Amino acid sequence: MSIPHDPREYAALRSWVEVPQGSDFPIQNIPFGIFSTGDRQPRPCTRIGDQVIDLHVLAKAGLLNGIGVDPAALEAPTLNPLMAAGKTGLRHLRGHLIGLFRSDQPFLKERTTTVREALLPVSEVTMHLPVSIGDYTDFYSSREHATNVGIMFRGPENALMPNWLHLPVGYHGRSSSIVVSGTAIQRPMGQMRPDREAPPVFGPSRQLDIELETAFITFQGKPLGQHIGVEEAEDHIFGMVLFNDWSARDIQSWEYVPLGPFLGKNFGSSMSPWVVTLDALEPFRTDGPRQDPEPLPYLRIPGRHSFDIRLEAGLIPKNGTETVICRTNFKYLYWNMAQQLAHHTVNGCNVRAGDVMASGTISGPDPGSYGSLLELTWRGTKPLKLGDGGERRFLEDGDTVVIRGHAERDGLRIGFGEVRGEILPARE
Ligand code: MN
Repeated sequence: MSIPHDPREYAALRSWVEVPQGSDFPIQNIPFGIFSTGDRQPRPCTRIGDQVIDLHVLAKAGLLNGIGVDPAALEAPTLNPLMAAGKTGLRHLRGHLIGLFRSDQPFLKERTTTVREALLPVSEVTMHLPVSIGDYTDFYSSREHATNVGIMFRGPENALMPNWLHLPVGYHGRSSSIVVSGTAIQRPMGQMRPDREAPPVFGPSRQLDIELETAFITFQGKPLGQHIGVEEAEDHIFGMVLFNDWSARDIQSWEYVPLGPFLGKNFGSSMSPWVVTLDALEPFRTDGPRQDPEPLPYLRIPGRHSFDIRLEAGLIPKNGTETVICRTNFKYLYWNMAQQLAHHTVNGCNVRAGDVMASGTISGPDPGSYGSLLELTWRGTKPLKLGDGGERRFLEDGDTVVIRGHAERDGLRIGFGEVRGEILPARE
């Protein structure tokens, strides 16, 4: 009942649960999330097609016995207790779930009472943040993005700082303001200096922006003082989500010297609810950009450690229609997740189960692939034309932004769904 090793056999797996054409959630995905309904408290689930699967119901029916999963973890309001099973435990669980739901294994399908209780249409559940997030780190790993922002903030001669090609630059963000997809984001108030010849002013941000990112979620790492080596780093990664790291560029550009991002960044970040495991993304491994100069030994890793994940962002004005404003790809990132985690811990910094590490804005080489309005409109100097006739320099109140992502190859599509958020007016 294990997962077929042959890639074609694996891609051909089908579920007895209906999977609509073009779904991000075939039986090969088996993402993990936290759902609730009117009469079910938040608890772990997975998803096939448009059906959310209550893992506690499966456990209660004795269907998850003998695979090392603690039944109490399947009644917890976050995935953190389940993540104590580690990479191997979650791999067993995912494999077991694929076994239960594949079309050539009708055993569970025939237990109609259990199926009726365990499967719920996604439209009838509320999704929550999948993990309790202890710490949040945001990297800055897209060379194209770092170069574009550097040109705008410092000029072309200092675009890429001297450290950038030698280490994955990052900063410690704030976990308290990470919200699940669908949560509205209030325009932040703050201090900025729109006129460089005049004193700073206080008010609602006028340069509210998106950052199209992904993030990975860590398993429990090692004790304080020990590091996670680059070769073992992926074993410490549970999976990935989509991430919109909302940013107020006017607050950011005034405050960031010399200690980096602060209030322009920590008023809200939105996360998609489904954690897609690295195992599910395995068929989409690819090379990242060539790294020159060669990184120091602790960051050196042979093999393919990027993933071919197509990403897009759409903007929907209040009562308007959606315009796709950016199409990019995870594979453009210069520093991969293994390098990010190895660098993060090389000084002995400990990571914990549920820590979130975001990629940084993912921009590609051409202007249509820039992952922020800052770059797409070149700091507001080239407004974006929207499909319904409007234009945007930065976000307006009532705008909704939706980020989607999926990988697709040889008929197999593994996706994340979406992360969505609407901008509410500032509270002055
Ligand atoms: Mn960011």
